[in-house]
This record gives sequence, structure tokens and C-alpha cells, in this order.
Amino acid sequence: MKFVRFQQGSAVRYGVLEGENIRIVEGDIFGQWAMGNQTVKPDAIKLLAPCVPSKAVCIGLNYHGHAKEMKIDLPQEPLMFLKPSSSLTHPGGEVEYPAISRNLHFEAELAIVIGKQARKVAAADARGYILGYTCANDVTARDIQKSDGQWTRGKSFDTFLPLGPCIATDIDPDNTDLKLYLNGEVKQASNTRDLIFKVEELVAFASQVMTLYPGDVILTGTPAGVGPMQVGDKVAVELAGIGRLENTIVKG
Ligand code: MG
Repeated sequence: MKFVRFQQGSAVRYGVLEGENIRIVEGDIFGQWAMGNQTVKPDAIKLLAPCVPSKAVCIGLNYHGHAKEMKIDLPQEPLMFLKPSSSLTHPGGEVEYPAISRNLHFEAELAIVIGKQARKVAAADARGYILGYTCANDVTARDIQKSDGQWTRGKSFDTFLPLGPCIATDIDPDNTDLKLYLNGEVKQASNTRDLIFKVEELVAFASQVMTLYPGDVILTGTPAGVGPMQVGDKVAVELAGIGRLENTIVKG
């Protein structure tokens, strides 16, 4: 199943993709819900980020290929950082190139969407706390990340968290192809088989530190091939079984 969140007039609703159409969902996809009777056409609505996280937990350096590319030893445990909820961006939305940066990078990632409140969850139980998966771009001001030494500022500008286009509930997160396109050209191409820490380990690890709420996301890290974007570029993250998350870079 693929859940989408969308705006129709002034109403914000959830729906389920049904071929070309969206069937409206009644209730709360993170609680009690049921399929509605109504469908809408995609051109009649504005697609929104599929959830509104209270926080995005992000994992750095979680692909074997990326660790090799950076010539860094494999981490002993996940390296965790946060993006604030204020950085959320919708599918088709604009990513702002900050005036104070000279090196804005894309990072294609699989994002885990938490389905129910999780605290101190064991890896063996973690799947029960996951609603599904979506595409994320962990937009990064690489120069600021490096000069600051810690990552908050370089990762947290408004618009630095594009998510979407849907929450797919039935993919295999251990075997999902992911690609990043910059102006139509493939820049990153990998598969989540190459993840160092799997999704269950990441939910367990993060939930030992902080309570994960329904709608929170965990960005699982990016594969090899990260690189710069310029104002005017079109960037797309594509994950098999989920879809394509497209954004445009504009002057901030
Ligand atoms: Mg990242």
C-alpha cells in the first residue's frame, strides 16, 4: 500500500494510491483508519510530504560503498544526528541554496516512517513500530558541516528535508534500489543491501536515546556518489517500490 498526504482546497488529507487515482482515507493512518468511498485525481490536489515528523533522526556513513569512497573505517555503531521539523519540504517543492554556503550537496536516502510510539525497542521487535518507507534527500551545506565540526547548522536550513512522494508499506528495506538524478543524470545508484546497519538496528538504536513518535522519520544514510547542486538544478531521489521525489534548487 502507498499512503499519500495531500491538500485539496483548504483541507489536508491522507489517501491511498489506486492506479492513477487517490482513494481518500477516513481517520488517522497512525491510528484507526478506513478506506473512504471517494477518489480524487492527482491533478486536483497538491501532494505534501507524506508525514510531519517531530524530528528527523539521521544516520551518517551507513553504506559500505560510501565508507570506502570516504576512506573511513566502518563505524562500530550508527552515527546519529538530527534535522529539525522546520526543514521539511514537499515533493515538487523548492530547496533553498543558502547565501552563506558555497557547496550544497544532495544525499539520496531511504527514510523509515515510524508508525507507533517507540521507546527502548529491541531490534527483534522494531518492524512492528515501522509504518513504511519513503524517499528522502539529506540536503547538506557541506562547507558549513566541515567548518563547524558538528553538523547541526550545515544539515538544518529550512527546506533541507525533502520527503515523499508516499509512504510505501510493502517494500523490502533490505533490498531496495535507490538512485539520485541531477538534471536527469544518475549521480548515485545503489541498493539498501549495502547498508551497514539495517532498519531494525536503527530503530532500536535511536529509540534507546529518544522516544520516536508516529510520523517521525529515520534517514538511513546515503550511498557513494554524493555531490554538489547549483541554483536551477532539478534533483530527484528514486527508490524502487516507493517512487520519485523531485525538487528544484532556488536561491535562498
Ligand atoms: Mg545523510
